[in-house]
Amino acid sequence: MFKIKKVALLLTVIASVFIGCGKKDEKSSVSNSVDVGIAMPTKSSQRWIDDGNNVVKTLTELGYTSNLQYAEDVVENQIAQIENMMTRGVKVLIVASIDGNALTDITKKAADQGVKIISYDRLITNTPHIEYYATFDNFKVGVLEGQYIENALGLKTNPGPFTIELFGGSPDDNNAYFFYDGAMSVLNPYINSGKLIVRSNQMGMDKVATLRWDGSLAQSRMDNLLGTYYTDGKLDAVLSPYDGISLGVVSSLKSMGFGSENKKMPIITGQDAQIAAIKSIIAGEQTQTILKDTSKLAKVAGNMVDSIIKGKEPEINDTTTYNNGVKVVPSYLLEPISVDKHNWKEAIIDSGYYTEEQIKN
Ligand code: BGC
Repeated sequence: MFKIKKVALLLTVIASVFIGCGKKDEKSSVSNSVDVGIAMPTKSSQRWIDDGNNVVKTLTELGYTSNLQYAEDVVENQIAQIENMMTRGVKVLIVASIDGNALTDITKKAADQGVKIISYDRLITNTPHIEYYATFDNFKVGVLEGQYIENALGLKTNPGPFTIELFGGSPDDNNAYFFYDGAMSVLNPYINSGKLIVRSNQMGMDKVATLRWDGSLAQSRMDNLLGTYYTDGKLDAVLSPYDGISLGVVSSLKSMGFGSENKKMPIITGQDAQIAAIKSIIAGEQTQTILKDTSKLAKVAGNMVDSIIKGKEPEINDTTTYNNGVKVVPSYLLEPISVDKHNWKEAIIDSGYYTEEQIKN
């Protein structure tokens, strides 16, 4: 009898420990749970840091909790982070992918759990499980870069010929093709007519892409191009799709003696209006960049989250452009703005995007 009582007591203790554990887990997972997971690619570029902060701010203002994570450009990290967000009960995921093609399985897993996904800035491809796409008019970004070169060299009227070299973005980022195609829609006619000459003959994304938008890769490619084709110093323009690449290009040019009387800096485009790029533009090195106001993009994504959670239709303004290989993803496209030494104050400072101190320091 005594033995039975002892065993019963032991069982009660064990049971209460287990129940206690269960309760504790339940409690901690409740306190750990968040409404929205935000997966960003990398902190190595200012724009994504701003994007992350702006999205969190917008969601907080709308009354949602969120968890923001950066994957430092490692695809496996991003997938693990998304999985981790799913265990925290997120209803919606906002994802700026590293490799747009690598999320097919995880998006399926999310969809199976009823989690909705918004593709942020970069299109996630090869999956039906994307609700909406919040981005900028990416083709227009390229057009603005191409037109900048067209105007700066006076291609419409000057007889030329002029020389140019081309850089593309990361081949696993759908945006990179839109930027390149947009720019080439302006530049190709001049290349075809012989007014613009690509001495290296390196054209097409298969030849000019820059894996993971890496500025140092761009710098070494530029070193090779300059050393092989431009020892005479006559390079008129460089198409660059991203400030990080432009900075690599500028470093290479400077190390080869460009930026002097007989070796003039070429026209160099860019994108993101990063502080370093604005400073470079003011210093007369990089020539142009593209401003994409990340606080506006965060608001678009925030409204999409709010609509999804409330079972409403968010505002979209494009239903034809972004086919991700499985479906056309309903999108909201924001307008990019071209910035150079003439309008940077108005576009960057007067608009409140950066303070004057940020540019000076
Ligand atoms: C973004 C650009 C950015 C690039 C590199 C692209 O997907 O749209 O704004 O410059 O990634 O981070």
